[in-house]
Amino acid sequence: MVFGKIWESPAPSKVIAFSWQLLYDRVPTKVNLLLRGVIHHGGGEGNCVWCVDFRESSSHLFLRCKMALEVWYAIFKWLGVVIVMPPNLFHLFYCLSEAATNKKVRNGYRLVWHSVIWSIWKARNNRIFSNLVKETLEVVEDVKVISWKWSAARLKISPACFMSGAWNPEFV
Ligand SMILES: [Zn+2]
Repeated sequence: MVFGKIWESPAPSKVIAFSWQLLYDRVPTKVNLLLRGVIHHGGGEGNCVWCVDFRESSSHLFLRCKMALEVWYAIFKWLGVVIVMPPNLFHLFYCLSEAATNKKVRNGYRLVWHSVIWSIWKARNNRIFSNLVKETLEVVEDVKVISWKWSAARLKISPACFMSGAWNPEFV
């Protein structure tokens, strides 16, 4: 069962828990806050921070948003995988796992999944709460850096390995 494997990762447990909740649409996106009555309709409060014409649902923010799409496609390129964006996050998690050629690579891709989810969420929060605007390329860099940090912490590898570009997610 591929989704049970989501827990097997060097990513911090709070990040893994967030990814897991996201797959079940239980993270506090604006749409979920609207549904729970925490925020109210009107004034565009439920809208995506990157594209004002769309509600910020989980699938919008992490999958269909122009920002999310750019990040994912840049990351697919980095990983050297070809994935046509599937209709939902469950499928995407599955596609990414299936794109791996062996178990080790799969672990790396799973780590990258957590990094992308976490980086998008952080970029969104920074924009909402700190008015800090990140470009897509900066978010992509964040994904690469935190993927490396999480795996380096576990494998005790040298930072030089990442800086020289010699590190890739297959080493997780
Ligand atoms: Zn958007």
